[in-house]
Amino acid sequence: MKIAVIGGGMTGLTAAYELTQRGHAVTLFEKEKTLGGLAAGFKQPGWNWHLEGAYHHLFTNDHAIIELINELGITDKLIVKRPITGTYWQGKSYHLDSPSSLLAFPGLSHGDKLRTGLLLGALKINPFWKPLESITAKKLFVTVGGNHAWETLWEPLMIGKFGNFAETIAASWLWARIKKRTPSLCYIAGGFHTLIDALAKSITKNGGKILTSTAVSSIQTLPFDKILITVPTPIALKLIPNLSLTIPHLHAQTLILETKEPILKDTYWLNITDRSFPFLAVVAHTNFMDKKHYGGNHLTYFGNYLPEGHPYLFMTKEQLLKIFLPFIKHVSLHSPFSILHSYLFNGPFAQPVHQLHYSKIAPKLETPIPGVYLANLDSIYPWDRGTNYAVELGKQAALAIA
Ligand SMILES: Cc1cc2nc3c(=O)[nH]c(=O)nc-3n(C[C@H](O)[C@H](O)[C@H](O)COP(=O)(O)OP(=O)(O)OC[C@H]3O[C@@H](n4cnc5c(N)ncnc54)[C@H](O)[C@@H]3O)c2cc1C
Repeated sequence: MKIAVIGGGMTGLTAAYELTQRGHAVTLFEKEKTLGGLAAGFKQPGWNWHLEGAYHHLFTNDHAIIELINELGITDKLIVKRPITGTYWQGKSYHLDSPSSLLAFPGLSHGDKLRTGLLLGALKINPFWKPLESITAKKLFVTVGGNHAWETLWEPLMIGKFGNFAETIAASWLWARIKKRTPSLCYIAGGFHTLIDALAKSITKNGGKILTSTAVSSIQTLPFDKILITVPTPIALKLIPNLSLTIPHLHAQTLILETKEPILKDTYWLNITDRSFPFLAVVAHTNFMDKKHYGGNHLTYFGNYLPEGHPYLFMTKEQLLKIFLPFIKHVSLHSPFSILHSYLFNGPFAQPVHQLHYSKIAPKLETPIPGVYLANLDSIYPWDRGTNYAVELGKQAALAIA
């Protein structure tokens, strides 16, 4: 069969790989110069490894992608480490990634800690997410974990991530976040680029064609037996007439600083609970992976999720840095620090908003047009977006189409 795959992110690449493995004649169309979509990386002169535009790691239970890494013969590239996760609260950073660190956190009473611990433990062991689609994360947290713990730890993060949607997020989204989290994290030597490159090479070796810098603006005249669309839903809606989906999305944005000195002391991931800050999270990549892979410099992300039309989406990295800098100084170890380079990454429609009963409105593989399929990061409920689910989805879509 002649099959077109539109979008060269992890979903499209995995589907194209699976389909070419089964002997189909696949052409993959990617709008950008490089493959990888939201997991795409870049490499500066003097670096040995690529770095993702948006911070990326895997959990140790991300079985689908780990299986793919094994299948492609790059198992030796998988690195497992236990970096530190922390929370910035009332002007100080605290480790907050284990029961003992929760016990030591000064912002909650013993009762609050017990209730929060019970809630997180219950979410971790509960296998049933469906009933949690009917109540909001706020309602669940306040009822079990208590109002004070919600207001201190979770509400500022939910507002930072989802803005005006924060109170509408379903508890099943919270369940998925807690359920999947593992204390140890994985990274791929060379960056996620190593996996993207291995997939691209296998597709080509199997006879598939990859066309980068090729945006598809209409599917009417594409001469294929079947078409799999993996682009974000708002773009897919322009390609598939008669399809209506009403999922709100946020855009992802990261400002990356390459510095001589580390910005955070030892923490990899720092959640910011102070909503006067202009960013939600600080991710110090070189507190996870060795700086020697990046010319001996430190790399730190400042991440945000932004609604359509937000002024930051129209700013240059210099304009953003001017706003961020006074706040970066609050969390930084060395002040002043020397900024060697900065990089800006925007991920359009990167975060679907999982509201109540999301599974009823999420895209289904079959579309109103026979032979045209849709599989993208909105399809993977109850899970939040992640490369592991993109791989799982790409495989499922390929099997169904083939
Ligand atoms: C800030 C951030 C942090 C993340 N952190 C992690 C993490 O730590 N671990 C993890 O596993 N996942 C993480 N993710 C999620 C992960 O990157 C995504 O779930 C995954 O990469 C989605 O792959 P996809 O192929 O479904 O979509 P995408 O990556 O969005 O791919 C869609 C592709 O379609 C292309 N396209 C768009 N329009 C057209 C067109 N008209 N014609 C042709 N091509 C087109 C796009 O350029 C893109 O390459 C993160 C995402 C973000 C935004």
